[in-house]
Amino acid sequence: MFGAIRNGSIKLFKVFGISVYLNWLWLIAAFYLVNTGLISRHNTMLNIAGLLGLFSIVLLHEFGHALACRSVGGKADTIVLWPLGGVAYVNPPHRALPVLWTIAAGPLVNVILLPILYLAAHSHYGADLGLTIGGQRFMGILFQIDFLLLIFNMMPVYPLDGGQILMSLLWLFMSEATALRIAAIIGIAGGGAFFLWALQEHSTWSMFMAIFVLFNAWQGFRISGMMKQIQQIPRRRGLHCPHCRANPPLGPHWTCFHCRSQVDLFENHARCPSCGADLNGAIIPCIDCRKETRIADWFTVATVDPVEVGPSK
Ligand SMILES: [Zn+2]
Ligand SMILES: [Zn+2]
Ligand SMILES: [Zn+2]
Repeated sequence: MFGAIRNGSIKLFKVFGISVYLNWLWLIAAFYLVNTGLISRHNTMLNIAGLLGLFSIVLLHEFGHALACRSVGGKADTIVLWPLGGVAYVNPPHRALPVLWTIAAGPLVNVILLPILYLAAHSHYGADLGLTIGGQRFMGILFQIDFLLLIFNMMPVYPLDGGQILMSLLWLFMSEATALRIAAIIGIAGGGAFFLWALQEHSTWSMFMAIFVLFNAWQGFRISGMMKQIQQIPRRRGLHCPHCRANPPLGPHWTCFHCRSQVDLFENHARCPSCGADLNGAIIPCIDCRKETRIADWFTVATVDPVEVGPSK
C-alpha cells in the first residue's frame, strides 16, 4: 500500500532501510510514455511492461548508489524516482574515494545487468529460463534500455554520473574545488551542446534533460567558487571537524546565540568572548563539508595525523 506523501512524492516501500518514493510527475511521464508508444505504437500492454522494466532498472541503479554509500559508512535512506531518472539521496564520507565508489556503483549495476539481460534474450539461455519467444524479445528490449541508460549516464557531463565520476577522479589529484570547477565547466559545455541538439531534434524530453544538466552544472560551478573562497580563510590548527577533519575557520565568523555579537566559537573553548555563554552544545555546520555537529565535538576529535594539514585540509 502507498504510505506517506512527502514533497509531492508517494512512498512506495522500504527495503534495506531505504524508503523508495515516486514523484507524482513520474505518473504523468508514465502516462505520456505509454500513450505515445515507449516501445510500440499499438501494444499498450507492452508499453506498460516496458515502463515497469525501465522503472526496475532505474530503481536497481539507485540502490547501487545507496548501498555503496552505506558500505563506506555514509548515510543513504531515501530514493525518489523522477521523470528524468531516479535520485538516491546519498551522503558518503566527504573524501574522493568514498564519493567515487558511491557514484560509480550506480552505472556498475547497469553493467552487471547487461550480460544477464543479453543471455535472457538469447534463444538458448532464454528458453532454459522458461521464457517464451515474446519474453525473450522483451528481455532484448530491456537490454537496449539498460544499454542506452548506461551510455547516457556515463557521459562525462556533470551532474550525470559520468561527470561526477570524473569529478571524484580529479579530486584524487587536486582540491575538491578545482575538481568540481573543471567537471562543472565540462558539464556546462556538454549541457549546452545537448540543448542545441535537442532543439534541432524537437525533442521535448531531451530539452528538459539539457536544462536540468545546465542548471546543475551551473550550480556546481557556483559552489566551486564558494569552495575556493572558503579555502582562502585562515584556519585554527589543532581542532577538527568530526566528519571531514578540516580545521575550523580562524576569526569571528559566527554569531553568538545569546548576545548576537560576531565571535570566534573556537577560541575560549566555545565560551562566548562577549557574554560568556557556554556554546558547546550549539549545532553548527562545517564550512568545508557542511555537515552539522555540536561545537563540543570539534574539541574531542583526536589529532591523529602526524603532520598538521594546511588551510585547504
Ligand atoms: Zn546514477
Ligand atoms: Zn567537515
Ligand atoms: Zn555571547
